[in-house]
Amino acid sequence: MNDTDAQLDRHAEFEQTIVGRFRGALSDEDRGLMARTFWISDPEALPNLLDRVPARDEVPEIEYRYDVTPPKGKSRPYVRCAHCFRPIHWKGNVARYADGCRLLLGCDCGEKQFGFRWSGREEHFSDRMSRHDLLMRLEGLETALPLLHSFLVMLSEYPGLEGLISLRDELHTKMPELVSLLTRVLHASGGELEITEHIRDVAAEIARDDRQKYAKNPETKPIFISVTKSLGRIAGASFVLEGASPLIDARKLVNACTHLQRRFALVTSRHVLEASALLEEGEAVVRAADGIVSRLEAANKFFGLSNLQAIIQWLRKRMKLTVYTVSQAALARLGEVETVRIERRLIAVPEWSSRKRIGDLLGI
Ligand SMILES: [Zn+2]
Repeated sequence: MNDTDAQLDRHAEFEQTIVGRFRGALSDEDRGLMARTFWISDPEALPNLLDRVPARDEVPEIEYRYDVTPPKGKSRPYVRCAHCFRPIHWKGNVARYADGCRLLLGCDCGEKQFGFRWSGREEHFSDRMSRHDLLMRLEGLETALPLLHSFLVMLSEYPGLEGLISLRDELHTKMPELVSLLTRVLHASGGELEITEHIRDVAAEIARDDRQKYAKNPETKPIFISVTKSLGRIAGASFVLEGASPLIDARKLVNACTHLQRRFALVTSRHVLEASALLEEGEAVVRAADGIVSRLEAANKFFGLSNLQAIIQWLRKRMKLTVYTVSQAALARLGEVETVRIERRLIAVPEWSSRKRIGDLLGI
């Protein structure tokens, strides 16, 4: 860690995201936008609906959008359209005149009715709606970041990560040839433990015997056929394949999250569009944290008894290697001089109770 990082970390405590800061730093217009509803589910229940488009010069504003398309297998009557003058669409827009009168205009009917001035209204509405969505997502990020940060701090100090590193080192040091065999299988067939066996082809033998029923010297040799089958798939592949230190990775994520919070703390209405990049970065940090947790799970899957048994069976049948054994207690390689053992042990996986909430907040 360099000096700047150390300094930044000292400030990290009081620079933690203060939830609610974001909305407070926005313009009144943006705050209004956040509170605004864009989609409604029951357009026909609105007051002041006109049956047909009135003879006025005014082009109404778009107030809401609706899509009441019923789910597959369900039915629902169409919504009345003021342009078509009958119930004919499920999707459409609610248009509102300055005096409060409203129209329901299905699909493209607003444009058919009002032309290019309506297209401008649609563009404006969509633009407001996407800004609203972005603001809501950013507010979600504001709530998610402290949760994510505290999980990452816990993860970076989690003893299981040391346990994972030492288990992995032990496997690589004690059984390097096994690691390279499994790595090859994982790269070649995604970890499928395939063996080829020669078995008697009884059907072919019967057919042959039938053909040579009257022959003087019938062929009687057994006929064999090659059959490829799988003994299973290597579980916990990332435990074997991934080499980076989960401890260093976790510390990097803490830093990434701290930097993200610091940058988010500067977002105001002026920077909302650029801030969408922070959402992607936040998502990337969450995914990387998922990756570390799943590496811990992968170690346990790899050392699962049935997984090791399948691997050992494959080594015997396919590679003619009989020196490996596994028991409840350990994976071992018998040697002429000494037997190498790796104790089977379960690595505790941290509980990430805020993961679901973070996922909901960030939409991942
Ligand atoms: Zn219509």
